Amino acid sequence: MSRENIETNHFFQPAGLYVHIPFCIRKCPYCDFFSITDRSTIPGFMEALIQEMSMTGVFPFRFDSLYIGGGTPSVLEANQVGRVVETAHRSYRILPGAEITLEANPGTLRFDKLTGFKSAGINRLNIGVQSFRDAHLNFLGRIHTGRDADTAIKDARKAGFDNLGLDLIYGIPGQTKKSWLLDLQQAVDYAPEHLSCYMLTYEFGTPMERGLRKGFFQALPESLAGDLFEATSAFLCSRGYQHYEISNFARSTDFRSRHNMKYWAGVPYIGLGPSAHSFTGMKRSWNCRSVSQYTENLNAGRLPVAGEEVLSRDQEMIEAVYLGLRKADGIAAEAFEKKFGVSFHGLFGEVIADLRKKRMMNATKTRCALTCRGMRFLDGIASRFVQRME
Ligand code: SF4
Repeated sequence: MSRENIETNHFFQPAGLYVHIPFCIRKCPYCDFFSITDRSTIPGFMEALIQEMSMTGVFPFRFDSLYIGGGTPSVLEANQVGRVVETAHRSYRILPGAEITLEANPGTLRFDKLTGFKSAGINRLNIGVQSFRDAHLNFLGRIHTGRDADTAIKDARKAGFDNLGLDLIYGIPGQTKKSWLLDLQQAVDYAPEHLSCYMLTYEFGTPMERGLRKGFFQALPESLAGDLFEATSAFLCSRGYQHYEISNFARSTDFRSRHNMKYWAGVPYIGLGPSAHSFTGMKRSWNCRSVSQYTENLNAGRLPVAGEEVLSRDQEMIEAVYLGLRKADGIAAEAFEKKFGVSFHGLFGEVIADLRKKRMMNATKTRCALTCRGMRFLDGIASRFVQRME
C-alpha cells in the first residue's frame, strides 16, 4: 500500500480532537506540560480558542472523541467548558456517542461545577488524584488533599458521571509497596471505570529534577519502582481491571480511553490550544508554547502553528514499534508488513524468540505483545527492536 493510500485511509477512521487549556492554580514541581498560573488571560484565550476552532473546522475528519486536557481545564467555569463543547460541535463533524472527556483537579471542583460540566456535555471525567496521602501530595506540590480527592470523586458520582477515570502516581520518594497498595485499594473502592498509574519521572529542567540533581532528596531506587509497576498490574488485574496499556487500566474494553487509544494506534488527532500537537496521518505539527503568542496570532487571523514535520518511513516504523509495545494488544504483524513492506518476523524474529524465552513477550505468527514483566523493561526492549531496523 502506498503512503498516499495510507494517508487517505486515515480519513475513514474517526479521529480525536484535543483541546489544551493552559492554566493551573499553581505549577507542580515535577510537571513539564505547558501551563501558566496567570488566569487573568483566560477571557482572551477563550476568544482565541473559538477562533482557532472556526479556522480549523475544514479538516476532512470525523471525530468520535473530544478530550479537554491541560493544564487544569477544571479551572474553567461550566459555562466556559460548555462553550468549548458547543463550538466543537458547530465547527467539526463530531459523531453521535462521542467520548467527551474533561481532566479535573480535585482542588478546583465543587458539586455545582460538576453538575454544570455534565450539563455542558462532558460524559467522561478524569480526576487527577495522584495520591490519597497528604505527605505524598505535599511532595508533589499538589493543591489538593486526600480528603479533597475523596469529596471530588463522591461528588462526581452524585453529579451523574458514570464514566470516571482516576490518575495516580507511584515511585514517590519514601513510598513503600504497602503504602502504594493502600492508595490503589482506596482508588478501587470507588470502582472507577478507568485508572491511569504513572511512574514519577524527573523531566529535565523541572524544579523537581533540579532538586534531585542537587541532592535535596533521593529518588526511589529503580528496582523498587519497577517492583511497584508489576505490583500495580497484579493488584488491579486481580480486582477485575484490564491492563491494556503500560500505564492504563480499564474495567472493561468499553471503558478504555477512546481518545488515548488513537495516540497509541497512530490514528489522526487534531490538537487545539497552545503547545497542542496534531497528527494527520503522515504529518505532525504543533502550536506555539505561549498564551500571548497564541492569542496574538489568532487575533490577527493566523493559525498559531510553531512547526511541522513529515514523518519519514523510518520514523513511522520506530513509532509503530514504540507505541505498539506499550499496548497489551501489541503489534499486529500483518498490518506492520502491509504498511512498511517488510517481513515482520524476518526483521524481529531473533529478538522476539529471545524475549519469549525470558517470558517477556507473548508472540504468535500474527501478533506480538510484551508481558507485564516485559513492559517493565519497555525502553530497553524497544531499543533492541529499533537496532534491528538500522
Ligand atoms: S496541575 Fe497538572 S498540568 Fe498543572 S502543573 Fe500540576 S501536573 Fe502540571
